[in-house]
This record gives sequence, C-alpha cells and structure tokens, in this order.
Amino acid sequence: NMQTTQRTTQEWQQLDAAHHMHPFSDMGSLNKAGSRVITRAKGVYLWDSNGNKIIDGMAGLWCVNVGYGRQELADAARDQMLELPYYNTFFKTTHPPVIELSQQLSELTPDGFNHFFYCNSGSEGNDTVLRIVHQYWAALGKPQRKVVISRINGYHGSTIAGASLGGMGYMHEQMPSKVENIVHIHQPYWYGEAAEGVTPEAFGKARAAELEAKILELGADNVAAFIGEPFQGAGGVIFPPESYWPEIQRICDKYGILLVADEVIGGFGRTGEWFAHQHFGFKPDIMTLAKGLTSGYVPMGAVAIHDKVALPIIEAGDFNHGMTYSGHPVAAAVALANIAILRDGGVVDQVKNETGPYFQKSLREALSSSPIIGEIHGTGLVAGMQLCEEKNPRKRFANGGDVGLICRDHCFGNNLIMRATGDRMLLSPPLVISRTEIDELVDKAARCIALTA
Ligand code: PLP
Repeated sequence: NMQTTQRTTQEWQQLDAAHHMHPFSDMGSLNKAGSRVITRAKGVYLWDSNGNKIIDGMAGLWCVNVGYGRQELADAARDQMLELPYYNTFFKTTHPPVIELSQQLSELTPDGFNHFFYCNSGSEGNDTVLRIVHQYWAALGKPQRKVVISRINGYHGSTIAGASLGGMGYMHEQMPSKVENIVHIHQPYWYGEAAEGVTPEAFGKARAAELEAKILELGADNVAAFIGEPFQGAGGVIFPPESYWPEIQRICDKYGILLVADEVIGGFGRTGEWFAHQHFGFKPDIMTLAKGLTSGYVPMGAVAIHDKVALPIIEAGDFNHGMTYSGHPVAAAVALANIAILRDGGVVDQVKNETGPYFQKSLREALSSSPIIGEIHGTGLVAGMQLCEEKNPRKRFANGGDVGLICRDHCFGNNLIMRATGDRMLLSPPLVISRTEIDELVDKAARCIALTA
C-alpha cells in the first residue's frame, strides 16, 4: 500500500494500542492482547500481517456483499474522483451519480418507493428516519403523533438516535441522554424467551400483540411508527416466527402507524430477495439502507421513502436535515457499480436459487446433530446458530456469553471469522461465495463448534 509504511506485526500492534480507540472495545484488555492486523483481502478471504489467510464468514460487518477486491468498484471510485470528487445537493444543485442511483433504487425497491434521502451510515439513516416520520405527521396536521415503538435487542446504530431506537441496554447505560418518545417492546425470540410448551406460532402472535397493547396504552393518536429489522442481525440473527410480521402489519394498518423496516443488514440480497421484508412478506412505508448499498467499499446510507410518506413531506416545504456528504458522488458511483454486479452479474439470483439453499442445507447437515446447537435460523446467506446446554427440553448455558466467546476464539485461531452474540454464533459471508468456499466455511464452523462442545 502506497500510504502506509511496511512495519512488523508487533510495530503495528504497538502503534495501534498507543493511538487508536476501537469501536465497541475494551481498550485495556485489547491493548494487552494486541489486535490482529488485516492487511489485504480478495473475494471471501482476508490476509493478516503474519500472512495468515482467513475466510471471512461475516462479509466484514455484514457489508461486503460483492466480495473484496472488485476492480469495477475501484474504477468507479477513481473515475468519479477525477470527474467530480465532491459536490453537494443542498442549494439548488444536483449531480449525475446521485440522480442515476435514485432512479435505479426506485426500480430495485418495491412499488411506491420513489424517493431516496442519502447519508453516510445506517445510524444516520435511522436518525433521518426519525425526522422523516416526524415531518410526515406534522405535514398531516398530527404533530402529536410522536412516539416510535421499537424492540429490546433490536440494533439500529450507534448515534444517539440510532442507539435510542435500538434496544441494547449496555449502550443506553453509557449515553448522556436518550432521544425522547421512543419506547421498546419485547423481541420475537422464541428459543430464548418462550415459556415451555408455547409454540413458535403462538409466541410470534403474542409478541406482535405487545405492539397493539402498547399502542392502546399510549393512545393510537400519539404513536408515529414502529421500526424493526425484518430479522434481528446484531441481536443474534433471530428470525421471528412466521406468525409475527403479518400480525405486525395488520396492527400498523389498523391504527394507521408507519411501518419502518431497517434493511441495513437485510437489504441488497442477503436473504436471496433484494430486501429482507420481501422474504417475510410484509410492506413497509420506509426502509433504512446502508452496508450492502456500496458493499462497504465507501460509506453510504439511504432512506427509501414510499410515496405515501414522501409526497406529503414534499408538499409541506422545507425539510431541515442533511449532511455535507449526503448523496456523495463517489459513494453514489460506487453504489451504481455495486448494484450492477448484484443485479446484472446475477449475484442476488444466485443467492436465492443456488448458493443460499446450498449454504442453509450444508449448515444444517453439518450442525443439526451437534450436542450444543439447539436451533439454526437463516435463509439465503445469513445464519444464526443457538448454542445450548441441553437440546431437549431446550436449555441455554448459564454462562452462554462466555461459551460464545470461546467458540469465537476457536474460529479466530483457526482463521475463520464467525461472530458471537451472547450464546448465538452468526454467519453472513460475502454473497459471491462459491460452493467450494461454502464447503470450507461450513466445515471450519462445524469444527470450531465441535471444539467448543
Ligand atoms: N441498523 C442495523 C440493522 C444494523 O445492523 C446496523 C449496523 O450494524 C445499523 C443500523 C447501523 O449502521 P452503521 O453502523 O452503518 O451506522
């Protein structure tokens, strides 16, 4: 790399410890152990500074959908930097990449999604969602509709608004204050939270019924929106029971409440559909997009706004929100090149018809009989595996989080990136992964889980 000097691993680690604060990390213990230095990547593989080849079962942070090292994306960024590296769209100006991208997104998204607002991340996307929701109800003359309902153990980002929408207690504890008018209901996590004898079907309905109870408690006239990830990603790849989303949809429709799908992980082909809500068969009014939009090559987020919501806001006049880098031309150019690969290169179709079903089948064949795997969730190229102490009746480990970390460390030591969320192990590889690479991924994952048992 031209910008960085050659150094030994130890030198990198010492400098990193001396000067770099990592996100979501305990820097004290990390600095003692030393971070792994990732120096390059290609396809589904990473290399570290000691020359180890690592298979990336997480596509970075669920974002490198087209895999690493794509010339098309690099060319798009370079060409755009030379043509128009930056311009804003605040003051009566616009530019070709953001126009093209918006038009293409209107084709890729379901009917009625014709307007897109840009930002730099999923967190900023959800911050934007709050403003859009508020602006919509104000435009309709109902500004008192302020409360947004979300879920415990949902993840919506790390800005103050994103973390307030999210339901992670450990994040709330460290915030100076939370955004007002956000309330949380329970998550549809059958394995972890259903009482003995309650079926997933009944549990899904009961958890959705909490939304209705909360709306009635608050008064429907005070409720603006419900937000949820179609499947919870960072919370542990938790797929809700099939009964859940149809009930949520019915309740939102009944009380006229906006339904927001946070598609930051689920969007751009992860489930084999372009957007994860299509897999679950519900119809959101707003979608948050990021990650797979640019495959993480450059930062970009977006909010997709259905006509029902966009048109009243447009009619109402000024919308006082935006970032210097909203609709950044380089990010938009990279997004266009990325979409071309996912769509014209047939990657999303391949996940739906070919690699997704193969991955899900292989994973179940390799792991269903493991004594410590209680349940496997997933479709397409995303999966969550529940670690358990006893399979029947189901019993979680008392120290589940520790067991997850032990498993993750086995993976790390065996050159596999698999994430642990408490007592769930997660996989979400690049969408371009081949059958042979899936064999390697599943085989390594199964071996690391066996080492943990
Ligand atoms: N929403 C969901 C569902 C996410 O998974 C994430 C990140 O993992 C975010 C929002 C936040 O995105 P970012 O980290 O780009 O701010």
